[in-house]
Amino acid sequence: MLNFSLVYVNISFFTSIISLFLLFLIWRKRHVTGSIFLMFCILSVAIYNMAYALDYSSTDVGMKVFWSKWQYLGLGNMLPFLFLFLMDYFGIVTHFKSRYIFLLWVVPLTVIILAWTNENHGLIWSGFSEINPDTNLMVYYHGPLYYLGIIYQYILGSVLIFNLAQQWIKFKRRSFRHQIEIMIPAILLPVIGSLIYISRLNPLPGMDWAPIGSFFSVVLVTLAITTFHFLDLIPVARDHVFTMIEDGIMVVDSQCRILDWNPALLQLVPRIPIQVGGSANQIFRILGVQNSPFTNLQVPVNLEVEIEDPEHRIIDIIVSPLIRNKISDGWLIIFDDETEQRLATRGLEKANQTLLLKLDEIEKLQIQLQEQAIRDPLTGLFNRRFFDEYFQNELVRSKRANTPLSLLMVDIDHFKSVNDRFGHEVGDRVLQLLGEILKTMFRKSDVSCRFGGEEFLILLPGLEMDQALNRAEAVREKFEQSSREADFLYSQVTISIGVSNYPLHGENMRDLFRMADKALYQAKEKGRNRVCCYQNNTNGN
Ligand code: GH3
Ligand code: MG
Ligand code: MG
Repeated sequence: MLNFSLVYVNISFFTSIISLFLLFLIWRKRHVTGSIFLMFCILSVAIYNMAYALDYSSTDVGMKVFWSKWQYLGLGNMLPFLFLFLMDYFGIVTHFKSRYIFLLWVVPLTVIILAWTNENHGLIWSGFSEINPDTNLMVYYHGPLYYLGIIYQYILGSVLIFNLAQQWIKFKRRSFRHQIEIMIPAILLPVIGSLIYISRLNPLPGMDWAPIGSFFSVVLVTLAITTFHFLDLIPVARDHVFTMIEDGIMVVDSQCRILDWNPALLQLVPRIPIQVGGSANQIFRILGVQNSPFTNLQVPVNLEVEIEDPEHRIIDIIVSPLIRNKISDGWLIIFDDETEQRLATRGLEKANQTLLLKLDEIEKLQIQLQEQAIRDPLTGLFNRRFFDEYFQNELVRSKRANTPLSLLMVDIDHFKSVNDRFGHEVGDRVLQLLGEILKTMFRKSDVSCRFGGEEFLILLPGLEMDQALNRAEAVREKFEQSSREADFLYSQVTISIGVSNYPLHGENMRDLFRMADKALYQAKEKGRNRVCCYQNNTNGN
């Protein structure tokens, strides 16, 4: 029958070995919330099972008791650590206070210490049976405080199962529920084993079935990690926030695999195939983002995408790295529907642009209007309105500076007959010809203007009378010559010019106009095509 004892020695030993392997699996996911507690729990399971293997293989009472003490060390730590892990992992308790953690260990520590010092008081074991030669098992007669430890374990186990059941109801997501569905039997099986051990139903007196139960627990947790995304898809208590929030949210692991998303995201991008474990980069490619947004581990990346299907939407995306203990935990992606705001902004920008264009147009028109207000459209010379103002200013300036100022009044000779003989259009061209001559022959400061009809005025600031007469004579000659050469005219046209001067002919505009006009009249009188100055009736020719 020793072969039979070999079976459970091997089971315990094997459980201990898988526990170490499981420890390695969890160590690889050590960044996951609460995983450190799970590692200690599994380490306790390994110690517990190894101690059983050694207990069952010992043939000496003293050695059996010694290894039993190690079993207590493993057993006492197992559930408190599992408790901490599950509370943290499922987000039931997120911040542990060290004094509450200590409270969890009050009973287990007492029992462990009592077990190790049992020789002195017998509170855990009151005695031992002979070793059964067939099974190599020994019955432990339990002292009162043994039951304290056991009851504490059952209570803690029940609290855990109760909490997990609550979480199962809370988390609607199937992947999370699977995790809980595995954890509950993983806790229950060793408890059932232990119940069989202490009950009268134990088929093999002295045989503890809890390690056998723990074998299945370890196998279940290993399966959960390798196949059900346990420690991969973290079921956070924030689950309902996730579901309620209006923005689309996607959680991606450090390998850019999709872990989770909320209903709002599906509403925002209903045609995009999102599935657990799928490539997040692929999703971004479908959204038209060619470069992976999962490169910057330091700061969030902001993107804007536009989709047409099922309707035109502009989505603002923020990809934030989730960093814990300097290790990348994955990424949080927030999708914000900015369609309305963006379209409104774009509309405003467009309206603003149109407005600016219109303003520009108005400004140009204004300038044009201002020009038109002071220019004569036919010749491009200034008009009388501008001239009057300018004349006034120049006169003030000349008086102040005590400088002369001359005024030329030009009139085309027999212009009526030009119109009559060649037509109004030719008349206009003659006016334009004179305009061009005036523009080219005078400086900028010498302002020329079309005074009305076929009469023109030229203001020559700083010019003495004789200088002005010379200039007038030059203009007369130039026009006479140009009209002779003009291809649109078949007869020569001439001009007469009257000249007046400040201070010689007067102090104000009215006198200067009057004197220039009189001089012009004299020029006409004397036979036209000449320059006259009223004062001395001099013929400029
Ligand atoms: P005078 O030598 O005495 O100045 O004779 P005149 O024919 O030039 O004198 P008058 O003042 O009698 O005639 C001026 C003419 O100028 C009359 C009018 O038909 C013509 N006229 C006035 N403004 C314009 C214009 O813008 N275009 C044309 N083609 N003719 C004009
Ligand atoms: Mg006239
Ligand atoms: Mg005339």
